[in-house]
Amino acid sequence: MANSVIILSDEKLTALKAYYASDVVKRDAPGVVFAAKTANASITAYRSGKVLFQGGGAEQEAAKWESGMDAGSSASIKKPLTKGTVLPDRLETLSVIGSDETGTGDFFGPVTVCACYVRADQIPLVAELGVKDSKLLTDPYMRSIAPDLKSVLTYSVLTLQNEKYNTVQAKGWSQGKIKALLHNQAIRHVLRKLEEERPDYILIDQFAERGVYYNHLKNEREIVRENVLFSTKAEGLHVAVAAASIIARVAFLDEMDRLSELAGRTLPKGASKKVDETAAAILLAKGEPFLRSMTKWHFANAKKATVLAAKTRG
Ligand code: MN
Repeated sequence: MANSVIILSDEKLTALKAYYASDVVKRDAPGVVFAAKTANASITAYRSGKVLFQGGGAEQEAAKWESGMDAGSSASIKKPLTKGTVLPDRLETLSVIGSDETGTGDFFGPVTVCACYVRADQIPLVAELGVKDSKLLTDPYMRSIAPDLKSVLTYSVLTLQNEKYNTVQAKGWSQGKIKALLHNQAIRHVLRKLEEERPDYILIDQFAERGVYYNHLKNEREIVRENVLFSTKAEGLHVAVAAASIIARVAFLDEMDRLSELAGRTLPKGASKKVDETAAAILLAKGEPFLRSMTKWHFANAKKATVLAAKTRG
């Protein structure tokens, strides 16, 4: 494990405390005035002014404070985007597993999660294959580039079918818990496929605070914790998340196609009035168990569709 020790002035120590304020941990050791733990380093400050950095990101963190920076120039430090996560410098150039999900807001269709590894030297290729922030990409475009991404990258994509979703939801699982379990599982799959190779970081497009995420996973046998970062809008921070987002989206679209075929009509995305109308038509034509088997049944759309169908029946 890499260790770095630096000595800081009182001024810098004050700045350091403020910088890691959201990562504070309690450490009752002699002489310790401050301790914090980030995703990639433990930081311990002593009364003497010595600060010890430990862990994979130790040197990187220490470098932020020792590089002749004045206390007043701390504005040059990259601020955490979200509580609990300090993003490493030049993250976009590192080897990263990105993880993202889709389908959580859609009444019809599954939740899909993809974890995808992009090695540092693959970053230009992935960009060349057309990966951009997925929010800017259309469904047909994503469908056209997903096969290339899948052929060059190590990934795992999980599709949680509606029957299973409804079963665990009825048991009291929140969407947060469902997502956390799927992300952890997809990341584990990718790590297993990578064998000896290890990413610099794992970046999860954030849907929950770190503590909440790990609380959802507390009963899991294998929990991935090392070098895990959380950030919102993570698809803009590393192409691995953008690629994961595209592969997850295409898995969602594929399952929507399959379900549309079963239903004999095109299932709309989202949770709009159009969704209610389509659901009501399916309810009338095929019955409730059939409709339930392709929807997230706890959504308000289920009740609205039932009311609409009853009106149509007269
Ligand atoms: Mn996301």
